[in-house]
Amino acid sequence: MTSILSTLLPQKETMINVLSQWVNHDSPTYQKAAVDAMGRMTVQAFVDAGATLVATHHQPEVGDHYTVSYGDSDDQILILCHLDTVWPLDETQRRPFTIENGHGKGPGVHDMKGGTLIGLFALRAIHQLQLKPRYKLVFLLTSDEEVGSPTSRALIEAEGKKSRCCLVLEGAHNRSVLTTSRKGVGRFLLEVTGVSAHAGVEPQKGVSAIEELARQIQILHALSDFDRGVTVNVGVISGGERPNVIAAYARAEIDLRVSTMADGQAVSEKILGLQPQLPGAKLQITGGITRGPFEETPQGLALFDQAQNIAQNLGFTVEKFSSGGGSDGNLVAALGIPTLDGLGSLGGGAHALTEYTVLDALPLRAALLAELMLQIK
Ligand SMILES: [Zn+2]
Repeated sequence: MTSILSTLLPQKETMINVLSQWVNHDSPTYQKAAVDAMGRMTVQAFVDAGATLVATHHQPEVGDHYTVSYGDSDDQILILCHLDTVWPLDETQRRPFTIENGHGKGPGVHDMKGGTLIGLFALRAIHQLQLKPRYKLVFLLTSDEEVGSPTSRALIEAEGKKSRCCLVLEGAHNRSVLTTSRKGVGRFLLEVTGVSAHAGVEPQKGVSAIEELARQIQILHALSDFDRGVTVNVGVISGGERPNVIAAYARAEIDLRVSTMADGQAVSEKILGLQPQLPGAKLQITGGITRGPFEETPQGLALFDQAQNIAQNLGFTVEKFSSGGGSDGNLVAALGIPTLDGLGSLGGGAHALTEYTVLDALPLRAALLAELMLQIK
């Protein structure tokens, strides 16, 4: 057994205690005060583990972002964590941290308070054993990942460009995997303007924005090509005012997923170039790719191979995984920086009431991350 693993295994109860404290603190993305309090508590734990708070990046609307580092090499490894969750304020009142059959449960337990916890304890073990990482470990703790990272994106990209590689502490879903590729994500808004008219007296004078939208939805969904990994989903629609009025306005929110940047560009152009189907209807379409695809690369796979060897030495296996969901790893991978994701907690049910993390795996996953941070060449 490695010295890191034998340091971490007896810390399982301490890990669970910190996790329960973090899960019981609500941190919805747009509740700045709550996320800031979560951030201060988390940063303090990193400082207590031997790290330095390098910068607090103040934000007016979302929680502040933080740069925390360990070691003093000029070269760095970037580790990405996020403080926000998808759950509303007071969710933890309704569903506080509990343990059932070896699973920790509660809002954000897996996405990604469990992941940030693994980062913290990996660092703690390195510090406790006075091991000297070859590269400076730079942790970014950001506060708007769950809404697509609008305010942290520039910071993540700037740190990514300075880094030899990037490790992302999103969770491993349902089995022991690490994420070597992720789909790219696009978001679009389609607004349809028609012409209102009395639905009974002179319907022929109207142009129904709802009928136009219905036709556009069919065209949009037909752009999906599951074999190529392209998915177009109209997830939210609204429009119209009253049943007896031909609708003058309707709108749709559209989600696009792609496996390659080429498909991302091609399908984005089709969405942005949609043409009205009914005479007199007008379309306005805005949006684009928010996170480019995180495509598998030889350098990224080399990181995975290294992690797989480390896991084997620690007594467990990991498989590689391609995720349909985006993460901040997409932003760094798109810059050509070798990126490995899914290094956070083992669990599942992210964004769902079934969310859980496997408590026995916490020390093992922290040992994997610590060894990887030390062994990266
Ligand atoms: Zn997450």
